[in-house]
Amino acid sequence: MSRIAYVDGQFLTHDFAVTHIEDRATQFGDGVYEVLAVVKGKLIDIELHFDRLDRSLRELEMAMSLSRAALKLILQEVVRLNRVIEGLCYLQVSRGSAPRNHSFPNKPSYSLIVTARRSEPASGKIGVEGVRVITTPDQRWQRRDIKSVSLLPNVLAKQKATEVGAFEAWLIHNDGIVTEGSRSNAWIVDNAGTVITHHESIDILSGVTRNRVLQVARSDGAKVIERAFTASEAKEAREAFLTSTSSFVVPVTQIDDTVIGDGHPGPVTKRLRRLYLRTIS
Ligand code: PMP
Repeated sequence: MSRIAYVDGQFLTHDFAVTHIEDRATQFGDGVYEVLAVVKGKLIDIELHFDRLDRSLRELEMAMSLSRAALKLILQEVVRLNRVIEGLCYLQVSRGSAPRNHSFPNKPSYSLIVTARRSEPASGKIGVEGVRVITTPDQRWQRRDIKSVSLLPNVLAKQKATEVGAFEAWLIHNDGIVTEGSRSNAWIVDNAGTVITHHESIDILSGVTRNRVLQVARSDGAKVIERAFTASEAKEAREAFLTSTSSFVVPVTQIDDTVIGDGHPGPVTKRLRRLYLRTIS
C-alpha cells in the first residue's frame, strides 16, 4: 500500500506529495513541527501537541489560520488513510515558499504537511530491557523550547549514538549539565529515590511525554524535582530513563561506559512506565 500524505489541501500518495522548491523549511529550516503517537488508531494528547504547536508558531511570529478542529480532522484522516493503528503522525508548518530571502515574506503562504506511518509499539523490547545512551556536547541554538525543524545538531548527535550502537545521545552543556536527549527528555532517580528532570526553560523542549510522566509520578506520590543535573550525577544515579512521544518511557541502563544501578531497569522507572502506558491505552 503506498503511503498517503496531506500537502496544502490535498491528500496525495508520497510519489506525488511534494513541497515547493523554495519552501522556507527546506532553505532556512524556517518551520515548526509536531510528532504525535497513534495508539489503537487514536492520536494521543492531541490538545497538548496543538498547545505546543501554537506556542512554537507564536514564538516565530507565524500565524497559520487553520482552526484546531480542521487540523485535527486532517491528522485523523491521514492516520486513517494510512491504516495506522500503532505508529506516529508528523505535522510540519513552514513559512511557505517565496523567492529566497532571509527576511520573512510580506504575505507568507504557510505550508502544512502531514504524514503518518506505522511503527513498532514503543512499549516493546527497548522499553522492557532498557538502552544505552552516550553523552555529547549540546551544540544547538539557544531556543530549544521551540520545536523548530532546524534539527541539524540533533541529527549529528543521534548519528554519533547510532555509530556506536547506542539508542540516544544525551546533550551536555558546557557546565556539564544534561539538557535533554537529541529527541527525548532525560531523567534520573537519585539514591534517595527522587525523580529528577531538567526544569522547563529555553534550554529544553517541554516534552508532552515529560509533562504527562511528571503528572503520573506526582499523583503516584513520588518525590519529583524539576532541576538541572550533571552527567556525573546521572552516572551515579540509581536509575535513569528517557521519555518521548516515539518511545514513551525507556529505561537507560548505561551512560557512556558507566552502568547505571545494577544494569537493569529500576523499579521506579518500571513503575512510571507502567503507569504512563496505562494512561494512553
Ligand atoms: N526533546 C527533544 C529535543 C525532542 O526532539 C523531543 C521529541 N519531540 C523530546 C524532547 C520529547 O518530546 P515529546 O515527549 O513531546 O515527544
